[in-house]
Amino acid sequence: MKIFDTMQRRKVDFVPIEEGRVSMYVCGPTVYNLIHIGNARPMIVFDTFRRYLEYKGYTVNYVSNFTDVDDKIINAAKAEGVAPEVISERYIKECKRDMADMNIKPATVHPQATKEIDGMIEMIQKLIDNGHAYVAEDGTVYFSVESDPDYGKLSHKNLDEMMSGLRSLKVSGEEQKKNPNDFVLWKPKKEGEPYWESPWCDGRPGWHIECSEMSRKYLGETIDIHAGGEDLIFPHHENEIAQSEGASGKPFCHYWMHNGFLNINNKKMSKSEGNFFTVRDITSQYDPMVLRLFILSAQYRTPLNFSKELMEQSKAAYERILNCTDKLKELSEKVEDRELSAEEQASLETVQGYVKAFEEAMEDDNNTANAESAVYEIIREANAGSSEASSKQYIQRLLEVIHALVDGVLGVRTDRKTEALNEEVERLIEERGQARKARDFARADAIRQQLLDMGIVLEDTREGVKWKRV
Ligand code: AMP
Ligand code: ZN
Repeated sequence: MKIFDTMQRRKVDFVPIEEGRVSMYVCGPTVYNLIHIGNARPMIVFDTFRRYLEYKGYTVNYVSNFTDVDDKIINAAKAEGVAPEVISERYIKECKRDMADMNIKPATVHPQATKEIDGMIEMIQKLIDNGHAYVAEDGTVYFSVESDPDYGKLSHKNLDEMMSGLRSLKVSGEEQKKNPNDFVLWKPKKEGEPYWESPWCDGRPGWHIECSEMSRKYLGETIDIHAGGEDLIFPHHENEIAQSEGASGKPFCHYWMHNGFLNINNKKMSKSEGNFFTVRDITSQYDPMVLRLFILSAQYRTPLNFSKELMEQSKAAYERILNCTDKLKELSEKVEDRELSAEEQASLETVQGYVKAFEEAMEDDNNTANAESAVYEIIREANAGSSEASSKQYIQRLLEVIHALVDGVLGVRTDRKTEALNEEVERLIEERGQARKARDFARADAIRQQLLDMGIVLEDTREGVKWKRV
């Protein structure tokens, strides 16, 4: 299998550290509001990559963090007049709901920065002891980039270039730094902000150290794959390498994978620019599986421009997949259980050819665009080859293939959304019924609203409560 490694700047063969096992770390979101579909791109593409590794038989140890201490969270908390953890806990919960909707497998571990402070302090202490970090007068701890001759090896920048980029910037605290590129490992608390005790001052960690520590703790000092959006290459991932390798003296990571941006009108979708759609905006209009097909319709490193036309194309493609699986499921109940005919055998060979094309696409640096095309060929062949005259074996084999590739690897559910949603909706309807019985109409209304936000409308009928998608 080939992966494009950002550090080596080329496609290389993937060889895991330990046979049959893959350790993978994907930088997760800062939790201060609902995630947008740009944030969903790394989630979906690396979840698909993980699923393919599992399809190949690897055991994948997959870690993805939540950044739950950050200026943006603190500002959001101030604006609402609540504690920062109220904001972060709320949006972790919302993010997990979006991930479940998008059929993203839960990570093996989803660590949170605020719960790993002790480990970060230990790592910072190691860096000070190793001569890679220093403490300024006010208790700020900086990483010294000059202490690391390899600094810049991921982003292929050298210190002089970085310096010229920084020269015009005046950042407070800059005068304490030995080199303007030195970055914060620990910083003193500010009035009204969360803080932790440390040997240097009461304060909180810089952003980069959390991923170095969580990767070490849950995956070990050297890991197979580290991934995230390409905006993280510099400084975030460059700094993670400096910290992790400075502390352990070992290589941090063997392969670096970075997804390209999801754009809108050819500009990066981002919260700060305000040019974004939340996952929630999209899933109120489309099945989340349509979003998945759309995101995977491009190879992950290429820019992908969001448009209604492309979403409509993915919607039509999803309908074709569902119509096919509906038909096959219906046929499998009806058709005769007999040997495969020669024609069916030939058709399954054709399908097998597309399975091979699918696998080759995935082996070629996670090329989900070509993998999707192979799936559409399989759907076409299945539609053309199947009828009431088919054998049960033939129909079942088609269903197995579609299930393995579409549900299994692409993570696109081929059961109708209503079935997947059933459980959650039924549970909420039940809870609403209880609330009404208890005359807690405020709660009942809140649940109705929650369902509405999920795109579900309720109708109270004589036979009980019915629901449908808006
Ligand atoms: P953030 O919450 O901004 O730290 O982002 C979380 C993850 O989403 C990171 O891996 C980012 O690189 C990624 N990301 C943010 N915006 C986009 C975008 N427009 N397209 C692709 N990835 C993005
Ligand atoms: Zn990170």
